[in-house]
Formats: sequence, C-alpha cells, structure tokens
Amino acid sequence: MSGTISLVILAAGRSSRFGRPVAKQWLRSGDDPLWQVVTEKLLAYGGFERCIVTTLPEDASYMKHYAPEGVTVVKGGAERQDSLRLALEHVTSEYVLVTDVARACVDEKLLGRLLAERGRADCVVPYLPVVDTTLLGSEPVDRDALKRIQTPQLSRTALLKSALKSDRLFTDESTLIAAHGGTVHYVLGDEAAGKLTHGGDIRNLGCIKPPAIHTLTGNGFDVHAFEEGREMKLGGITIEVPYGFKAHSDGDVAIHALVDALLGAAGAGDIGELFPDTDEAFKGADSAQLLDAVMVRLERYGYEVVNADVTIMAQAPRLGDYKEQMRVRLAKLLHIPSSRMNVKATTTEKLGFVGRKEGVAVMATATLKYFDWMQER
Ligand code: MG
Repeated sequence: MSGTISLVILAAGRSSRFGRPVAKQWLRSGDDPLWQVVTEKLLAYGGFERCIVTTLPEDASYMKHYAPEGVTVVKGGAERQDSLRLALEHVTSEYVLVTDVARACVDEKLLGRLLAERGRADCVVPYLPVVDTTLLGSEPVDRDALKRIQTPQLSRTALLKSALKSDRLFTDESTLIAAHGGTVHYVLGDEAAGKLTHGGDIRNLGCIKPPAIHTLTGNGFDVHAFEEGREMKLGGITIEVPYGFKAHSDGDVAIHALVDALLGAAGAGDIGELFPDTDEAFKGADSAQLLDAVMVRLERYGYEVVNADVTIMAQAPRLGDYKEQMRVRLAKLLHIPSSRMNVKATTTEKLGFVGRKEGVAVMATATLKYFDWMQER
C-alpha cells in the first residue's frame, strides 16, 4: 500500500433542497460550522498530502476565518463537478479522497476500509446493499444487483482529472470514472453516514454537538453629511424634509451602522468590504436591500438576530415622530419581533458637526445567536 493521498471536501453547495435559510455546511456544532467539523475529523485520520475545501465564491473570505491550519479554501463552481475540477487544480498526489460536506458523519472504520483498498481499482467506493423490496415502475428489481453509492470515494487523481474534462454531469466520481473506462472497487459503506439533503435529514447529525448557546455582540457607527435636494432615507423609511444625505448609496446612515453591528457580531468584516462605494452596482442603492442581502448571508452562515438597538444623533431633522415607524420597519428587515428592536434619537446639544446641522451620526448594537437545528430533530 503506497501512494500519496489528498483530501477534497466539497462544501460549495447552495443547499437549495434543504428548505432552511441556513446552508447545511454552516450548521453549527458548538461554535464551529459543519464543514469545519467534517474537515477536522477527516484530517485527524492523518496522512493527507493536502486538504482542499471548496466554497461558494462569496463565502470564501469568511470561510478562511474558520479554516484549520494547512487547509486551502478554493472557490467552487456552479455544479459539484465544476467545484471538483477547480479543487483538483491544487492536487498533485497520486490519489484523492473526495467527500461531500453533507456526508457529515463518516466514521473512522469506513475511512480505514477505503484507504486499505487503495490501488485495488481506479476508484474505491463505499456502497450499501438494498434490503427493501424495490420496484422499477411496477416491476420488482433483483435487489442483490442494486447498490446505494456513498462518499467519500478514493480515486486515482490523474484519471479523475482527465475524466473531468468531459462536460457530461455525474453525481459522483465512481460513475464518472466508470464512464471513462476506469475500474471501480466496492467496499461496504456505513448506514450511519447518512447524507444531509433535505431539512428533515438533520436527524442524521447524531455525530455533531448542538450549537453553542452564545450571544454574539457587534457595534456599528456611521456618519453622513446632508445634501440639498435628495430624498432622506433613515432607518428604512422616508423622512419628509427637503434634504437628504450625501452618499454613494441612498445614504441611510442608520441602516449602515446597523449592518456594521450585524457584521461585527458575526465576525464578518464591515459594510465597505461587502458593498464597496467604488462599485457602480451600489450607486444610489436602497440600503434596505443591502440590509436584506446581509440578512440572507448571516442566516446562511447559521445566525439569527436576537435584538438590535440604534442611537441616532441628529440636531436636525426632528425624529420624534418617526422613531416608531423606524422600529417596526427595522425589526421586519431583521426578521425579529418589533419588541426586540429599539430606536433612540438624541441631539448633541448643538455641539460638533451634528450640533451645527451638517449631518447625522448613528451608533448601533446588534446581537446574534446560532440557529438551533437541535429543535428540528
Ligand atoms: Mg454609510
């Protein structure tokens, strides 16, 4: 038994069949996303030349905050096969072990069986027998001839790379390699290594810890100067004054501070990294839509908002009559009951740029918790 092995973990899926705002690769075990847990578990088995994890392109920078040492995060493509092709550009070892992050609970014995058979064929693959009576249409099928194919699968890198030059889509390596004339060797799989595809499959996560009961806090601060003749958007609503904010976007300084508070709580950078003000796409952008995009992202990363609080510092305009409307609107944007959203307004006693009525400053705080998938088991 010889030949070096690299590890590829495919985690670039959009979880489109999962039916939850959270992406399955970001379900939390303690504070750790599932893809990190799966990666560490496989790495602990040892002996891999390289480890590659694929990701949705927009998640790559956040993913790197969590990546275990020595792991290369690679932006994936539209299909599983595209992501695999991109990952293999970083692999030079003789063999490559490929798994899907959705196959979260692969045990060491199965890994041992796979790696022990290295070299027996171009692809070594775990399977499960079919034990139930199975029909094709209304005709019973000889179930002894049927196999349910699992991952991880151990393939010869060179053959896999050349097979991947084809545009035909396959759902796993063994069928791709077989279609390109390669040999496949089957080893007994593991019934417990179920796959997370639909939300109900959360019950297959027996090997993962519950999410940590943490409250994560972030703060945000933003300032915008007034500009005559623009519509004023503040706290997601329109303020009836003949001036607005000077800004690349609509200048909703309260939402900008709130977005930074949310990103702060998630450890996900700041609003400028997500929506650069040099990007034409965000010129005149509706800040409520930016907040919406941030919420989609945070919920995908496995967070829910607990509460938020905003302090608007404005000598002008007078905001007393608008605070309630802002509170309700912002709560809706954060997907929380309005009782957990608070909006405060204060003057600065005529001091500073706010006091001179040159603009508005906003301070925001937000707290997040992890989506509790345990409740769905
Ligand atoms: Mg701003």
